[in-house]
Amino acid sequence: MDAETCLKKFGYIGVLAFATVDERGGPQIRNISAIHYEADAMYFFTARGKDFCRQLEKNGKVQVLGYTRYKEMIRLSGKAVAVPQGEQKKWMDVIFEEQPYLANVYPGDTRGIGIVFAIRDAEIEYFNLGVSPIFRESYSLGKGKISEKGYRITGSCIGCGACAGVCPQRCIEQGMPYRIQPQHCLHCGSCAEHCPADAVVRL
Ligand code: SF4
Ligand code: SF4
Repeated sequence: MDAETCLKKFGYIGVLAFATVDERGGPQIRNISAIHYEADAMYFFTARGKDFCRQLEKNGKVQVLGYTRYKEMIRLSGKAVAVPQGEQKKWMDVIFEEQPYLANVYPGDTRGIGIVFAIRDAEIEYFNLGVSPIFRESYSLGKGKISEKGYRITGSCIGCGACAGVCPQRCIEQGMPYRIQPQHCLHCGSCAEHCPADAVVRL
């Protein structure tokens, strides 16, 4: 798995949820299918008058979520930037060609109220609940930074093994200290709750 494959899987899903934050700090989420994928970026169409557009123009922060039929969750957290004016028509035409229904929504020249944004820099989290043990990994798209999440066992571990016994995914290895396999961890927190030495820290 890698960032490019995650973008391909987004394409198979088709309709994705795009989340932003409004001017009151509240969450705003909507479904979007007017998307074109390149190997290293995604381009999407909206209209300039929409709140969504204003929220993107403010700081570009956007989170995109998709879920496949194979129980794969893919989450992209990145920055959306309007493509340069000279490239707007080109990308708009590409998106309208790939998504013919758009011509009914914005017939003829009315598509001119549209704007195309691109996401080139993002963190992509892949989380597969359809395999055993579960599998997760994060990838960088462009200059996107990967944030550490989940739990880690520190040197305060006394080797009692309590965490391994309560881990739903059996993804804690014996040793001194014990070690969590991050690619199989649910981030459920059970190990931290049951550790008598407070050796499990949240990242
Ligand atoms: S429960 Fe805590 S002290 Fe015991 S093995 Fe796990 S991390 Fe180490
Ligand atoms: S957070 Fe949950 S899944 Fe991850 S190691 Fe701890 S108990 Fe296991």
